[in-house]
Amino acid sequence: MLIVRPKNKFSELLKAPEIQFFLIFIVPFVGFFLANYYNLADQYKTAAIAAFLATLAILLLQTLYNLRIHRELKEQERNFLSVVAHQVRTPLTAVRWTLEELTKPSMREEDRSQLAQMGGMASQKLNSIIDTFNQLAKLQDGQLEFRYQPLEITDFVEQVVADAELVARQYGVVLHLEKPNQPLEVKADPTKLEVVLSNLINNGIKYNHKGGVVSVRIRPLANSRAIECTVEDTGIGLSPEEKEHVFTKYFRAEGAKRINPTGVGIGLHITREILHQHGGKIWIDSTPGKGSAFHFTLPLAK
Ligand code: ADP
Repeated sequence: MLIVRPKNKFSELLKAPEIQFFLIFIVPFVGFFLANYYNLADQYKTAAIAAFLATLAILLLQTLYNLRIHRELKEQERNFLSVVAHQVRTPLTAVRWTLEELTKPSMREEDRSQLAQMGGMASQKLNSIIDTFNQLAKLQDGQLEFRYQPLEITDFVEQVVADAELVARQYGVVLHLEKPNQPLEVKADPTKLEVVLSNLINNGIKYNHKGGVVSVRIRPLANSRAIECTVEDTGIGLSPEEKEHVFTKYFRAEGAKRINPTGVGIGLHITREILHQHGGKIWIDSTPGKGSAFHFTLPLAK
């Protein structure tokens, strides 16, 4: 399951609310019984009672805490399933519709190839949704493998920006890249760093206006052995409250839902986790209606 993976069965059993309630009633009972049975002096009895009352209080608090976590996990699970169902439904309907249309004999040849293209794009979208959920599941299970290597960041970023050019053109957005003259080597896993950069650049494109700009800048940080990369857009921006939640799983701002109803709200969460694994950090500046700038750091290789 996506939410948590038990460490081992015994520790999970101890965390079960039913077991904890049982312990709360059994432990004090055994304590009183033993203190009386061995006919202990009064101060020992008082100490025993105090210890058992403390145990009782701790177990009670822990039980209440576990019950809350249990409720939250159930809620998360429900949200997760409805997010998956919602995300998968749209491209799946598109694939089914194109297949149905393609079987109609009256269809003209040029419409047929256009429809086939649409079907292909919808199935790619399905693939990328499943990939994203897969990455999230692996990340949460601690199973996402990182293969670090020295990586020249400026050429790498340039390539990711070039790959995003087609999508930018579709949205009528212009991409800019500002890079330093000297090469900069970071220690990174290239496939994961590509996820980070393409998430940020694609968001800058998606949550922008026609004719808008996405600028990507890389600079070495003077006082630390790290680089800073900024992805800045001239798009819809975020309010101060929305900014607080932007890296939270499944969060989507109202403005974003209006202009891009098919978002999932996990790209930035994955992005932040990947950067943390690299020893970097990410933060955001944003002004509603004016745009956002996502900044992240990465340690240099040497
Ligand atoms: P998705 O784009 O699929 O919704 P993300 O995790 O990438 O998921 O983003 C989460 C939310 O953060 C978006 O739905 C949007 O509300 C907000 N957001 C992300 N990037 C930007 C941006 N460049 N400008 C404005 N809002 C953004």
